[in-house]
Amino acid sequence: MTLPVRAAVLREVNAPFALEEVELDAPRQGELRVRVHASGICHTDLSYRAGQGRFAFPAVLGHEGAGVVESVGEGVAGFEPGDAVVLSYYSCRACGTCARGQPAYCEQGYAGNFSGARPDGTYPMRWRGEPIRSGFFHQSSFATHVLAHQHNAVKVAKGAPLELLAPLGCGFQTGAGAVLESFRLQPGQRLAVFGVGAVGLAAVMAARVAGAASIFAVDLDARRLELARELGATDTFLADEPELTRTVLKKTRGGVDFALECVGSPKVLRQAFDVTRPLGTCGLLGLPGADAQVSIPMTALLFGKRLVGMLEGDADPKRFIPRLVSLHAEGRFPIEKLSRSYDFEAINDAVHDMESRTAIKPVLRMHTGAAR
Ligand SMILES: [Zn+2]
Ligand SMILES: [Zn+2]
Repeated sequence: MTLPVRAAVLREVNAPFALEEVELDAPRQGELRVRVHASGICHTDLSYRAGQGRFAFPAVLGHEGAGVVESVGEGVAGFEPGDAVVLSYYSCRACGTCARGQPAYCEQGYAGNFSGARPDGTYPMRWRGEPIRSGFFHQSSFATHVLAHQHNAVKVAKGAPLELLAPLGCGFQTGAGAVLESFRLQPGQRLAVFGVGAVGLAAVMAARVAGAASIFAVDLDARRLELARELGATDTFLADEPELTRTVLKKTRGGVDFALECVGSPKVLRQAFDVTRPLGTCGLLGLPGADAQVSIPMTALLFGKRLVGMLEGDADPKRFIPRLVSLHAEGRFPIEKLSRSYDFEAINDAVHDMESRTAIKPVLRMHTGAAR
């Protein structure tokens, strides 16, 4: 039995989203039907909307959903109707990479997250009778109801603030995961964050949680730098400041322990690498263009410097999202300062505000009111 639901259908590259009725499959093996309360919008959604994913349209995007389980398919363990869940990225939990505790690099990660289909190639949604690309990150959360998988759903307390928690599934997890899971930053260490949007600001908040001695924030936007300071940055720099690299090196007497690139630009990655001290680590989180190249001085690498790319901040959502929920409840991860809510019908306004940098993390409300 399929269910008629409302979804934001994208008919072609860069078209506006159109709210239309689609048919959603009944949950299959391992799947959960989730009534979506809210979904964040992440930069990856915008990249896919712009055609970077090279997948066929029409499509339903969205991968930061949160809601309440309505029904479960066969073989589902640990979830039942009425459970509140935050949805994250899909991993198979069975391949060698998953078994080694790195689900972000799951061998089925591409099929399960980026193909716009289930890992087996089928589509959970139909529009005007035809299957359409859906199941983005095993959710396609720009819809009132979705099929998630038990492997990418994380249970949270009933009555939890789902509208706030939704973006934990990707953007906030990515920034905070880089600092706490990948770098494992220790008290007294120093971090530089290049690009303080949702991902970079999550890194700043996480670095404060970890007890960083200095947190340098770099961005083109003075207002964002002000917010970074409020959230824990100790030093802020405009990205076009001349001598930026030299100033950071001077202030740190040789560089930071960790630098994070959250923009996806070769020039910025080079800056981040250059301010990293010998034996330090420079991490890449930003999504670059498909053909982007960077050039790095080989001698700097010889001095023990590491350059590493990361997906989802190397975090395992099953462990890490509950940790972020606790930090938020303690007031140490104040994501409400980054979010702005929009009714689902205003999805195109939300996208516009994100692109024009007036909203850092837009969150769409599909269903309001108490969880049922
Ligand atoms: Zn796997
Ligand atoms: Zn994302």
